Amino acid sequence: MPIHEQSLIRPENLKTHDELVMDGVDVSGHWSTFIESRVVTDYNEAMQDEIAALPGGEHIHRCWQCGSCTNSCTVNAINPDFNPRYWIYLARMGMESELLRDKDIIWQCVSCNKCTYACPRDVVPEGVMKAMSHWLELKGHTPMSPSMHFDEVFADQVIERGKIEESRVMQRFFKRTGQPLFQDWFVEMVKQMLRHLPVGMLARMGLASVLAPSTSGWSRARDAIREYADEQHGKHRRALGLDNLIETAKQDAGAPARS
Ligand code: SF4
Ligand code: SF4
Repeated sequence: MPIHEQSLIRPENLKTHDELVMDGVDVSGHWSTFIESRVVTDYNEAMQDEIAALPGGEHIHRCWQCGSCTNSCTVNAINPDFNPRYWIYLARMGMESELLRDKDIIWQCVSCNKCTYACPRDVVPEGVMKAMSHWLELKGHTPMSPSMHFDEVFADQVIERGKIEESRVMQRFFKRTGQPLFQDWFVEMVKQMLRHLPVGMLARMGLASVLAPSTSGWSRARDAIREYADEQHGKHRRALGLDNLIETAKQDAGAPARS
């Protein structure tokens, strides 16, 4: 019989035959439409734990699939394929290959946090979306997103100097993401600043962009923050089994294993 709600099934999972006779019965046309078996064999049983180990993903286990996050989501209203509830379900079930089908849109979360306020279980879906994007990058499924580049450039400068100097952050961000410095919106913003900001402030900003001042006595704090950040990165990599993967790749390439 014809399949109702066929639109809910992915086209690649539908099999049809223009002409087909089975046991002497002609089942050509839509009578021969079959749905591919949905047996999943490549579970990642550690997937929930891997995402929970990354910042923002800590409460993923609390989700009870009510769908309030997706119902309230800003991006879902524009693109129904953006579905935080469904992705959380896939991660909890360990269905990695299914999640990877949507890997190119998960990063599109705009951090409006509507889902966070709607969630009755304090899952913090916005944080889970961030953790998932980070997980996709660390696992090599997606390239590093521009927002992740920006976070790194921003954090590097805070750790290095204990201060933020915006023009340096923007310069480094543009360079890392291969963008030209003199973009229309940027030039317009600088013009507006020159027009409207007090001369003293402009002079201080210009000086700071050349001299890149640090917070006084910052070096001890810098070392402690670096140590903590390295510790956290190591923890995240271990949680995702990335160090083991690198060791295996080295051994495959004939390099000596780490003791
Ligand atoms: S924070 Fe992200 S996932 Fe949550 S409602 Fe906003 S766009 Fe959707
Ligand atoms: S609102 Fe919270 S509990 Fe409900 S599906 Fe979304 S994350 Fe899960």
